[in-house]
Amino acid sequence: MYAHFGLRDWLMNKENRYQPTSMTPTQHHRHGLWPRAETVEDLQRNLAAVRERIAAAARRVGRDPNEVRLLPVSKEVDEARIRMAYEAGCRFLAENRPQELARKYEALRDLTDLKWSVIGHLQTNKAKLVVRYAAEFQALDSLRVAEVLDRRLQAEGRALDVYVQVNTSGEPSKYGLHPEEVATFLRKMRAFSSLRLRGLMTLAVFSTDSERVRQCFILLRTLRDTLRQEVDAGLTELSMGMSGDFEIAIEEGATVVRVGQAIFGSRKTPDARYWPSSDQPRR
Ligand SMILES: *Cc1c(COP(=O)(O)O)cnc(C)c1O
Repeated sequence: MYAHFGLRDWLMNKENRYQPTSMTPTQHHRHGLWPRAETVEDLQRNLAAVRERIAAAARRVGRDPNEVRLLPVSKEVDEARIRMAYEAGCRFLAENRPQELARKYEALRDLTDLKWSVIGHLQTNKAKLVVRYAAEFQALDSLRVAEVLDRRLQAEGRALDVYVQVNTSGEPSKYGLHPEEVATFLRKMRAFSSLRLRGLMTLAVFSTDSERVRQCFILLRTLRDTLRQEVDAGLTELSMGMSGDFEIAIEEGATVVRVGQAIFGSRKTPDARYWPSSDQPRR
């Protein structure tokens, strides 16, 4: 599956290949079954359970759990339940779609210390919404979008934390740069001074085959380690892992996990609406 990535040499070298020290399974079998959080107490309980899973995964590989930032994903969660999440302590939430963020931001303006991340593919005509409402953008995957964001940010006199999205699964339908394109992309990004490069982001293959999932995370970490030395020392963060696979991501170095359903409950809309997938069926 990596034949076209050019990192093949690296992966073919037996010494670099992952040595299975952990049999951590995915949680994808719970997809569609996460119970819906209806109260502040439900959310507190779910947040505590997710934090416990984060800590256990970190400890398995000798990492400090505090190195991992939990970013709750509130797409399709209505404003009343977002207020509950705020009461439960959440101050930084993520949305996939800028239009949905714009609507929620306006309705929740009174929560002045609530910050937002946009984690979904962006079209240039929606860039102004990210500039207006988001503190962070995790799905940068084109120079055109970088240019439009930078121009608008300059006009506003502000900067934006960004993550470059990488397609680590090799699925042609997934968003994100091809791993081999990232070095050149980062060099060109230097022209956009209001974009503060923080790290890389990916979505792993959606599969209960935990080794295939793990390979996606290993690839992202390897890319970051290589590019941090060769291109940009500021490349530090690894945003990878969601409800069904964040433990594996943490074992492979995730510094940000984006978790929706394990906190808020299962969504009605199939995920294919947010990111195209060729890997059906999804179990
Ligand atoms: C929805 C979403 C997530 C979280 O997925 P869950 O299964 O709800 O944890 C993570 N990343 C992106 C890009 C998303 O759109």
